[in-house]
Amino acid sequence: MKSHYRVVVIGGGVVGASVLYHLAKLGWRDVCLLERSVLTAGSSWHAAGGIHALNADPNIAQLQAYTIDLLSEIEEESGQNIGLHMTGGLTMAGTPDRWEWLQSAYRTFQSIGIHDCRLVSVEEAVDLNPIMSGEGLLGGMWADREGYIDTTGTVHAYAGAAKKRGAEVIEHNRVLELNQTLQGWEVVTEKGTVSCEHVVNAAGLWAKQVGRMAGIELPVSPLNHHYLISDTIPALEELDFEVPMTVDLEGFTYLRQDQKGVLLGIYEIDHQHWMMDGAPWEYGFELQQEDPDRIEHELTLGFERYPCLQEVGVKTWVNGAFTFSPDGNPLVGPVPGKRGYWSACAVMAGFLQGGGVGKSLAEWIIHGAPEADVYGMDVARYGTWAENKQYIKETTGQFYTRRFVMTYPNEQLPAGRPLKTAGAYADMTAAGCQWGQSWDLEVPLYFAGPGFEETPSLKRSNAHDIVAEECKVVRERVGLLDITGFSRFEVTGPNAEGWLNRIMASTLPEPGRARLAPMLAEDGRLKGDLTIFNWGDGTWWIMGSYYLRAWHMRWFNDHMEDGVTLRDLGEDTAGFSLAGPAARRVIEKLTDGRVGDLPFMGCGAFDIGLLRCKVGRLSVAGELGYEIHCRAGDHATLRRSLLEAGAGDGIREYGFNALLSLRLEKSFGIWNAEFTQGYTPGMTGMDRWIDWDKSFIGKAAALAERDGNGPAQVQVTLEIDAEGADASGYEPIWSEGQQVGFVTSGGYGHTIGKSLAMALINVDKAAAGTDVSVHVVGVERSARVIPASPYDPGGKVMRA
Ligand SMILES: Cc1cc2nc3c(=O)[nH]c(=O)nc-3n(C[C@H](O)[C@H](O)[C@H](O)COP(=O)(O)OP(=O)(O)OC[C@H]3O[C@@H](n4cnc5c(N)ncnc54)[C@H](O)[C@@H]3O)c2cc1C
Repeated sequence: MKSHYRVVVIGGGVVGASVLYHLAKLGWRDVCLLERSVLTAGSSWHAAGGIHALNADPNIAQLQAYTIDLLSEIEEESGQNIGLHMTGGLTMAGTPDRWEWLQSAYRTFQSIGIHDCRLVSVEEAVDLNPIMSGEGLLGGMWADREGYIDTTGTVHAYAGAAKKRGAEVIEHNRVLELNQTLQGWEVVTEKGTVSCEHVVNAAGLWAKQVGRMAGIELPVSPLNHHYLISDTIPALEELDFEVPMTVDLEGFTYLRQDQKGVLLGIYEIDHQHWMMDGAPWEYGFELQQEDPDRIEHELTLGFERYPCLQEVGVKTWVNGAFTFSPDGNPLVGPVPGKRGYWSACAVMAGFLQGGGVGKSLAEWIIHGAPEADVYGMDVARYGTWAENKQYIKETTGQFYTRRFVMTYPNEQLPAGRPLKTAGAYADMTAAGCQWGQSWDLEVPLYFAGPGFEETPSLKRSNAHDIVAEECKVVRERVGLLDITGFSRFEVTGPNAEGWLNRIMASTLPEPGRARLAPMLAEDGRLKGDLTIFNWGDGTWWIMGSYYLRAWHMRWFNDHMEDGVTLRDLGEDTAGFSLAGPAARRVIEKLTDGRVGDLPFMGCGAFDIGLLRCKVGRLSVAGELGYEIHCRAGDHATLRRSLLEAGAGDGIREYGFNALLSLRLEKSFGIWNAEFTQGYTPGMTGMDRWIDWDKSFIGKAAALAERDGNGPAQVQVTLEIDAEGADASGYEPIWSEGQQVGFVTSGGYGHTIGKSLAMALINVDKAAAGTDVSVHVVGVERSARVIPASPYDPGGKVMRA
């Protein structure tokens, strides 16, 4: 062991080994991996080794596909056999909704370029896996690149390939302590102290403790997981091929062949956490006692699905732990506030995600950003509220239990809720508010009568008409929306304007005005679709998506300059938005009248009833509208004042479901749909806000896009001949049998009475009037490109 490395990776499981390999592959040789025991001594040695392509998050599915392709590469490079059995895989659906979901998931795969899968009938599936009973199944999906690997061999292959490229692997050396230094980190180990610029926490079952060594509480917990390996099955002895990796979603099991028997893994409904504060240091190659009683129901389903299991015994039981984050996705990337400390934790499926995690993290450390849009696994998608143990317990448990349970897009899950509520929460609940969750905060979805329950659905739900009514109120009278769920950052100090000018690609607003501002990364891709407010007194605000608060804060801090004070107002500020033709009349009743003179995109401080508020004249709904911001404690008072003032104009509260429909009718994009860190200004139309005459972060790359060949795909609005269901995102768009784009978001435009979508489409298909087709919940529908903003295309209403 040397006394200094550029990077020290803590943990010799599949994830740490993959991070090390990718660092070396990208050219950093001065890197080492420290392992407490021997390689694989955490959860990696006892994994089932299954690799399969399906993931609900398309970006993560792509990283899984990358990992699967990488496996044979590392085998060849290292010379270490990884026991790869590419048997192909089946994912089976056992309810009509699940079968519909699988058909639309298949289309999503086409959208993201995964083409080696196909839908299969039950008969075909049973031919492919003859030991499976087709009883109760409705259909399935076949994927070529699925199967299983030898887990120990795979970890050694990553490590061996890394060593061949110059990286070091040091076993039997536990990291005891981490101390931050000016240059990076001091890593105190059993065999001495090393310094490094970057430290990577890939400690798997011990991630919690290795986080705490740096004062970090990672939202991660281990849970136990069972699989069994059967004795030899005579039917398998007769086959001249291996049965495919098979997931029976409604049966909570996955199965793969293991020699002439099978391995049957179970996602237990009755989940069990294990060592929430991390595994004991002496833990290694032990397992937990199996608990067949706890999994009796799932086992019965498994033995019915594979009747041959009823004829043979169980050779081995495995009940071991692996780690989960609240949403089940990994926690990867630079930990906010801890320069040089990187997380590669909570990787639930290390053998199918580890390659993608290693690649992205190595790119991040070396190039400053990963190539792929990895927001879905970014450690900064959580805030400090997620450090709470009960929150972690409830959410990881919910994820585990529901691992194979279908979650509908309109379904609200209960774990860890309600957490943060705005001041008017109780009053709004009494008024019938149905709540969703954004980050830690309860946000209004819509308002329904007593006893209303929304039916989980892949299609339009029984809340459709309620949302229609709310949209009508906003378009025809005036609606009130709780906008506590927007982020607000305050920027002050002598260099506030200079700093904002550098990090935002747009011109900054004049005093008393607000302006839309794209923020770009150095490589020219989007980092934010923000709104800047110049309050005219030296104070500026940046407003954006609430759930990106920690993610944006990390970016701002990484690009901070002297003379700037930045404050996240998210805990101190709340607000309401007033939108609709009567909005001005309502707000004027509560103030001295000057607020009515605010021009479109104007802003200022005003008395609103008894409160002193900041007001901006803008509206995501595309109406005459005002966003009114108050102190968090004034929220209920502000709501009451506005409702009373609007009573004569028929004011009604509405929720974000209506707002999503209203903004679609205006072709207003939103983050994580039309705008992501994978897209560029040219693709998304954000370039129209760029001030090309000034310098800003990402300008060279943005110029290269502008002055080069331009983007291959651009953003358009579509009208879809859909019935009873709308597009939601990632549906493929077809023209003459070719895939020419994909939907970024969709929904029903209640005012114009049409199913709408926004989409990225090949430039030659982007003209209004172009006929295309789109798969909506698995069914192909005709559609056409329409001019942007089907409602009030000239924006006259908004500017009235
Ligand atoms: C029963 C079961 C079945 C599974 N099946 C599959 C499957 O089919 N497919 C799949 O992809 N995944 C599967 N998994 C999950 C998989 O095992 C994990 O995703 C994977 O092992 C995580 O790897 P890791 O490197 O993050 O963590 P770990 O394997 O836990 O590795 C962490 C390493 O860090 C070391 N370490 C910790 N602290 C220190 C320290 N202070 N100093 C030095 N070293 C330290 C540990 O000794 C350990 O070796 C399964 C898991 C279980 C339990």
